[in-house]
Amino acid sequence: MKKTDTEIDALFVGAHPDDVELGAGGTISKLTKEKKNVVIVDFTSGELGTRGSGETRLKESQKAAHILGVRERINLGLPDGFLKADDDSVNKAIFIIRKYRPKIVVMNPEYERHPDHEAVHRIMRSAMFKSGLLRIETKDNGKNQEPFRTRKLLSYQQAYAFHRKPDLIIDISDTFKTKMKAIQAYTSQVYVPGISNPDGPVTRLSRPEFLEELEARAIYFGTLVGCRYAEPFLSIEPVGLNSLSGLL
Ligand SMILES: [Zn+2]
Repeated sequence: MKKTDTEIDALFVGAHPDDVELGAGGTISKLTKEKKNVVIVDFTSGELGTRGSGETRLKESQKAAHILGVRERINLGLPDGFLKADDDSVNKAIFIIRKYRPKIVVMNPEYERHPDHEAVHRIMRSAMFKSGLLRIETKDNGKNQEPFRTRKLLSYQQAYAFHRKPDLIIDISDTFKTKMKAIQAYTSQVYVPGISNPDGPVTRLSRPEFLEELEARAIYFGTLVGCRYAEPFLSIEPVGLNSLSGLL
């Protein structure tokens, strides 16, 4: 079996385009500024969204990816609103994990308001275990993919507050503006002065207050660790450090 796949630093996964920007946009931008290889995978194009169309959101998601500086953004084209951890979805996720061999995977949280968010969490947990099993065979361009697994699995925060203290809080003070710019690439979804359609149906995201709410949340997590803006994460497994100097 020949090694043909590439290794990236981090894979950010979301059910809908804009999930990863809202939950981890500052952290992504920070990684790419540090010249780390980041790939984003969205499971659906968000075609059930109240505003805009799936096609519009796909275009907006590519613009946001460019702002965040990621290497690639892929859409799996699964059905919005009906995601589940079935064989097809898990196999697609195994293919992605083995193709990119990410050192860190960051995904939707386990407990969430939108059922698709919870579904992606379950799909990724199942796929991550199975992608390490030699006897589950997947092919890329006719060639067998090598098994791969990482234990560094994180969840970003979405609508629900975490049910326990975050395991990691990342300082995004220097990339908060880039995060907001990436979020505002979704002009069909969020309020952008002078650009958004004021006559469309009002959603939680389309209100001008939504951007203030995002900022308030980032400030809140910043206060917990003594910086201006931050994003919180939960880790599935304990996070190890090589040395306490990692905290210096
Ligand atoms: Zn979503």
